[in-house]
Amino acid sequence: MRSTMQDVPLGLGRIMQYGTTAHAEAVVVTATADGTRSRTYGEVGRRAARLANALRRLGVDGDQRVGTFMWNNAEHLEAYLAVPSMGAVLHTINIRLFPEQVTYVVNHAEDTVVIVDASLLTPFAALLPTFETVTHVLVAGPGSESVDLGPLESSGKQVVRYEEALAVEPDSFAWPEIDERDAAAMCYTSGTTGNPKGVVYSHRSAYLHSMSMAMGDNAGIGPSDRVLPVVPMFHANAWGLPYAAVLVGASLVMPDRWLQAEPLVRLIEETRPTLAGGVPTIFNDLLGWVDEHPSDLSSIRLALCGGSAVPLALQQALWERHGVRVQQAWGMTETSPVATSGIPPVGVDEDEAWRYRACQGRVLGGVEARIVGDQAEPLAQDGVAVGELEVRGPWITGAYYRDDDPEKFRDGWLHTGDVGTIDPRGYVTLTDRAKDVIKSGGEWISSVDLENALMAHPDVVEAAVVGIPDEKWQERPLATVVVRPGATVTPEELREHLSGSVAKWQLPDAWTFIEAVPRTSVGKFDKKVLRRAYADGDLDVVRAP
Ligand code: ADP
Repeated sequence: MRSTMQDVPLGLGRIMQYGTTAHAEAVVVTATADGTRSRTYGEVGRRAARLANALRRLGVDGDQRVGTFMWNNAEHLEAYLAVPSMGAVLHTINIRLFPEQVTYVVNHAEDTVVIVDASLLTPFAALLPTFETVTHVLVAGPGSESVDLGPLESSGKQVVRYEEALAVEPDSFAWPEIDERDAAAMCYTSGTTGNPKGVVYSHRSAYLHSMSMAMGDNAGIGPSDRVLPVVPMFHANAWGLPYAAVLVGASLVMPDRWLQAEPLVRLIEETRPTLAGGVPTIFNDLLGWVDEHPSDLSSIRLALCGGSAVPLALQQALWERHGVRVQQAWGMTETSPVATSGIPPVGVDEDEAWRYRACQGRVLGGVEARIVGDQAEPLAQDGVAVGELEVRGPWITGAYYRDDDPEKFRDGWLHTGDVGTIDPRGYVTLTDRAKDVIKSGGEWISSVDLENALMAHPDVVEAAVVGIPDEKWQERPLATVVVRPGATVTPEELREHLSGSVAKWQLPDAWTFIEAVPRTSVGKFDKKVLRRAYADGDLDVVRAP
């Protein structure tokens, strides 16, 4: 028996049209060099229509890819809304990839138009001649009205100022009805190994993911929220926060290029966001700043944090010293990205609740997860059996764009490359990425557990642990530690500190003190760089058993 329900396609156009009319008075506030600028969703809706008309004039009349090379700001939101809603495909280019990787992703996606922030013109101009399919560039944001376009024009591409292009267009557009399975947007993974891989989101997957983001078992976003995505809009769709906010009429606060702790705190104090989303390094930097400079973070009811393991010590410090509740989430570019979220079960006591907050969170409604052993055999979901995490669901990718990777996709499941357990309630605890696990004498040592324990030491700002080759044990942990300025700690003290929570054979026997842990393009610890630095003899290593 078929249902009697109407078969209306889920689409980002619906989110855009609803959010910018029913919630026309909500605002997107963007940080500037000396304060903020603000635009209502009503205006954003009209400007999105102008942008769609302008893109149509530049030849975008089908599923052409429109790239963005932009920070988090109002114009990027306009592109997020206009491009998919007109039937084209938004490709958010990660501006922090290596130059040759940017060239690779733009050519692989076959972008035809790219919208670039005026503040990014210099790096962009150097790359533009390598973009084979790009015919037009739109230059957006403060400064775009006067910036010298010469360096772009010398590439032979047509270059237009965004505001001039919008000014001559009508502020309505005949938004088409789009098949919900068609492509809406695409992101490339940051490519820790080999070339970046493209993930193409459908209208349906983005719509369902937006709804999930707003639900109470996840970020619980509503019209009275002001959402601050610190996570870049060029990485994993800023965790879907922009679409979720527009869908429910929550306002947005965009940090643009001011991502350091000091301007972020200023932005928070001025605009009073209720929800912020970012990787642990962002919140760690923020904590370091607010510990030293009394600041008011009281507007933030929830700090959504993920992208790498969120140390319990960081969560507790933000809660106990600054009243900011951190909620851990797990996901990947391949999973839209949010697939688990860390709200503790109802009825557990405070100690238990912290234990749950330390893990990656509960699998969200709509996503299925399992862990599998070496032969891909499903393991018990008992919180004890350790294996690789696999997921499937309507906002999980089933393939990469024009790129085979049979290792990642098995029997309809995405093989995540993350290692850990799932408990009977669906809480996922990750111990490592498969490639970061330290294999010592046939046993596995979790780099994440060691890092968490190290970062709980009051004088440790950051710590990353990697496996280094060892003749006897195959691999042993090397701890790379960043110490609070002015403090001195010895490996012996840190071993002593760890011995309360870590088995003796797992204690690192090689130590190095560094100024900062190298980070990837999206702010995660870059263990590849650390392993290479060790192999090249660039680290000052102390042996301390
Ligand atoms: P990249 O692979 O380039 O880092 P992604 O952002 O897609 O880009 O990374 C996804 C990976 O980030 C996951 O597979 C996982 O290893 C890690 N990750 C994300 N969230 C968490 C978390 N809460 N705890 C631990 N690891 C996480």
